Parts: sequence; C-alpha cells; structure tokens
Amino acid sequence: MTKIIIAIDGYSSTGKSTIAKQLAKALSYVYVDTGAMYRAVTLFALRKHLVSDSHLDQEILIDLLDEIELRFKYNPELELSEMFLNGENVEKEIRQMQVSQYVSPVAEIKEVRAKLVAMQQKMGKEKGLVMDGRDIGTVVFPDAALKIFMTASPEKRATRRYKELLDKGEEVVFEAVLENVQKRDYIDSTREFSPLKQAEDAIVFDNSDMGLEEQFERLLNFANRIIEKNPKDGYML
Ligand code: C5P
Repeated sequence: MTKIIIAIDGYSSTGKSTIAKQLAKALSYVYVDTGAMYRAVTLFALRKHLVSDSHLDQEILIDLLDEIELRFKYNPELELSEMFLNGENVEKEIRQMQVSQYVSPVAEIKEVRAKLVAMQQKMGKEKGLVMDGRDIGTVVFPDAALKIFMTASPEKRATRRYKELLDKGEEVVFEAVLENVQKRDYIDSTREFSPLKQAEDAIVFDNSDMGLEEQFERLLNFANRIIEKNPKDGYML
C-alpha cells in the first residue's frame, strides 16, 4: 500500500492531536505532534530564565539551540509518544498553562523554526505519517497528499481546553484559557515567519458541532480515497 503524509494544521485547541492520533493508529502510521516540540523549546527557555512576561532573550536562546535535544519516545503502556528534552520526560510539564503562555512568542523566532522544521522533514522521509501543527501543509510538507485545516469557534475550543486542564488537576479560570487561545491564534496567524494560514489545497474542517467519531470517519475516508487511488506499494508525499 502507498503511504502518504497527512498534514493537519489549524487553530489552538481544535482537537487536531486527538484526531491525528486516531488516524495514525487506524492507518498504522507514525504520529508527530509538532506543538510538543515548540513547547519543549519554550520549557527550556523558561528554565534558563530567558522568557517572562516582560522579556524574551532571543539572542541567548538562539545561541543555546544546539544544546537542545528533542526526542519522541513511544510509551507502549499509554500507547502514545512522549516528548523528551535532553533525555528527560517533559510530557506533563509542556502541557501546563505556563508553557502555553510563552510558546507563541518562542515559536516566532526564525532560528527556532528552522531547527524544528528540519527535524520534522527528516521524520517524514520514509514512513506514512500524520503530523499536526500550524505550518505543516504550507512549509514542512507543502506536497503532502492530504492537508486538513481544522477550525472551530474560540469559545468551543477554550471550553475543550479548559476541561482538559481541569481533568489534569490544574487550577485555571475559563476566561484565562479563552484569552490564551485567542492570543496564541493572533500571534500564530500574524507572525512574520511561517504564519498559521490555510494552504490553498487544504480541506477546511470546522468541527464546532461535530463529534469525535464523525470527524474520525470523515478524515479516514479522505485518506483512504487518496491511498486507494495510488494502490501501488511505495511512498508518496
Ligand atoms: O499544537 P499546540 O497548541 O500544542 O502548539 C503550541 C504552540 O506552538 C502554538 O500556539 C504555536 O505557537 C506553536 N506551533 C507552531 N508551529 C507548529 C506547531 C506549533 O508555531 N507547527
């Protein structure tokens, strides 16, 4: 069977990763959460005190980029890949609000993007892959066979994120989550390098009023149609 690359981009908290994971499992593909990579670099910057409300020490962070080693390791018990920063499992920490607050300014830095995009392109070299992020269909894999652009109303997205954080035991107020979602969308869509935007050939997917099962079935259908059209063994983007 031909293996393809599935690029899923879209706004914060649209449920990209949930659906991307399900798709990857159904197709026996590798799943890559590129947001986790930007979050890990942000955690590194926070630990080095390079980022706060009032400052971002871009130059020092750029100088230290070579010291940042990122790796996804598959956890068979949880059936998912976890992010390791310089050998340490940081999966929980990178999901916290503090990292969410600073990740978009860090992701604006050209050198940070260049490093992570190169790693992402390497991961796509051989295998079928589902990758989610903001610039996958536009910059990382502009020739991906299937591109999805996910969107939903900010309120729906903030509600999902709020519930997730509460489930993880974080103390948050809904308004702060909504503000964070909107702020990240704004920075992500207006930044100079690789802004979040829909690729011309992407399928826009508004899941404001769609359950997980319906989303999964529709996306799997899109993927299968492309794979069936190219039934020969081999690899295409
Ligand atoms: O996907 P997630 O919400 O975890 O991403 C966190 C942040 O990382 C985004 O708000 C965005 O600033 C940045 N990001 C990016 N490009 C990607 C993935 C994430 O700029 N491909």
